[in-house]
Amino acid sequence: MIEPVSPNGPLRLAISMDDLFLWPDMPLAPGYSHLGITRAMTAAMGRHGIAGAYAFSATTPAEKAPDLYRVFDHWVEAGHHIANHTHHHANLNWVTVPKYIADIERTQTLIQPWAGRAPTRYFRYCMDNWGNTPEKHEGVQAYLGRSGFTPAPISIWFYDTEFLAPHWRALRSGDAEGVAHLRRAFVDTAEKQLRVQAAAARAMFGRDPAHIWLIHGTPLAADCLDAILDRFQAAGVVFISLEEAMADPMNAEAVPIVTPRFLNQVQKWAALKGVPIEDCPPAVLEEIDWIAPMAGQSTPEVMGRVFRAISDSMDGEFFAKLY
Ligand SMILES: [Zn+2]
Repeated sequence: MIEPVSPNGPLRLAISMDDLFLWPDMPLAPGYSHLGITRAMTAAMGRHGIAGAYAFSATTPAEKAPDLYRVFDHWVEAGHHIANHTHHHANLNWVTVPKYIADIERTQTLIQPWAGRAPTRYFRYCMDNWGNTPEKHEGVQAYLGRSGFTPAPISIWFYDTEFLAPHWRALRSGDAEGVAHLRRAFVDTAEKQLRVQAAAARAMFGRDPAHIWLIHGTPLAADCLDAILDRFQAAGVVFISLEEAMADPMNAEAVPIVTPRFLNQVQKWAALKGVPIEDCPPAVLEEIDWIAPMAGQSTPEVMGRVFRAISDSMDGEFFAKLY
């Protein structure tokens, strides 16, 4: 038996996925493909009775590899939905409102064959950054409103993309023990971050709001999503649709904060109300970046390169993630 995530009863949680194609120049660990990863994730969700999950994926990687759209075919055939996450995956921190909006419109044309079948026209801001100035925040929100998009925030995440570089290094260097350690840490971090972020929300609102959880289409997600969902279920999580989670005002309301920081919905409310969240971001992220060290391949170096290139491709003003 593991301790329930909430003393108040079941915790309602919608599962959402981001970046099934990841991003251009993001090295994929040997032995994995985006379609294979996605198939493993739909199988894990199927075993846990999860249907109708939304995936938000930037579409630039498919420019050079149109085969990637088979991932969307599979996703929709498995009973899930596709929605808008911009074409380039620029952070609104880096670019202007007109560029950001043009990028939303560009991907909408590309994803229409799949997104057109989804019950709700959702949009997810890249890195959950809703604009670092009032003008940007209001400009994109106004565009989304008049274009029939509903912005779907993330309320609980576990920094899963920070496992990408260590996992790639461990596999490349044949560090089997490192890989095993990363798999355990990935599942444990998912559970611990669910607990601390749900606890912060409960403390702020005096109840358990419905939550929106995020995992990306990464190799470790393929290997570990099943175990994570088992863990969540054992801790009293019940899986709900994104539509049901979005009916909760904690998610539906844009948090009245303008910030460049890398914060999800619960963290934004917590920043606004001055509520601390324990071990968030978790200390384990620094620890895992020591696994299988390789020159130029630490998490800040790899992710910095990938995201700076995205910003440059849109003539943006890049700056690194601010926690
Ligand atoms: Zn993303």
